[in-house]
Amino acid sequence: MNLVLLGPPGSGKGTQAKRLSERLGIPHISTGDILREAVREGTALGKEAKRFMDEGKLVPDEVVIGIVKERLRGEDCEKGAIFDGFPRTVAQAEALDRIMEELGRRVDRVIDIEVSEEEVLRRLTGRRTCKNCGAMYHVVFNPPKEPGVCDRCGGELYQRDDDREETIRERLRVYREQTEPLIDYYRSKGILYSVKGEGKIEDIEGEILRAIGVEG
Ligand code: ADP
Ligand code: ADP
Ligand code: ZN
Repeated sequence: MNLVLLGPPGSGKGTQAKRLSERLGIPHISTGDILREAVREGTALGKEAKRFMDEGKLVPDEVVIGIVKERLRGEDCEKGAIFDGFPRTVAQAEALDRIMEELGRRVDRVIDIEVSEEEVLRRLTGRRTCKNCGAMYHVVFNPPKEPGVCDRCGGELYQRDDDREETIRERLRVYREQTEPLIDYYRSKGILYSVKGEGKIEDIEGEILRAIGVEG
């Protein structure tokens, strides 16, 4: 099963992708996580990507397409993967179709997670991420047992540089302009499923599982 999670920043793609990855036993591919890792390590890729990320702009298509192409060569992706935050432009979606075809695979389902802009703002301003394992929390909606400490691994929680109100607004603008057209792209292929992204995390996961034909 190759599954794409689509939706604005803060719609819960990462939160759901992590749960689905564990449940379905297939890897979670987050281009955002891969890019942030490169920024932390200070690689050439990280240095190039940082300027765009700090401004809430998209990293150039050829850069992220290269990352995904490389990642999909991993043996762990043979049975499928969950894409979170990729594709984000029509050019990326077309490239993904080509890459998958070369590998004899295809994108099976696309889940569009629908969340209002007010909710996105509430969520992203309170988002905290584990430095160690990447688990996501929210200071009000999904708090860790102990403030600032990851429940899963005890790692330190931090706030992302781009989760500031001004950058969030720019990311939402970029989403509407460049990523939203993918909804029609995938609808016309007959593989798009829309899910309401507001409500309990477990209930939304159940909806996604139903959409992909797995019992919750
Ligand atoms: P969120 O989960 O809040 O939507 P991500 O972690 O997916 O954010 O992405 C953070 C930033 O990384 C984006 O604002 C963008 O600069 C860059 N990025 C991540 N994925 C892509 C992509 N597929 N194409 C271009 N840029 C990307
Ligand atoms: P994305 O990857 O789409 O940017 P995240 O999964 O990082 O989104 O979620 C953004 C924030 O919203 C995080 O702080 C997360 O804990 C919180 N969150 C995720 N799902 C829900 C939900 N159903 N209700 C309330 N908060 C949520
Ligand atoms: Zn952790």
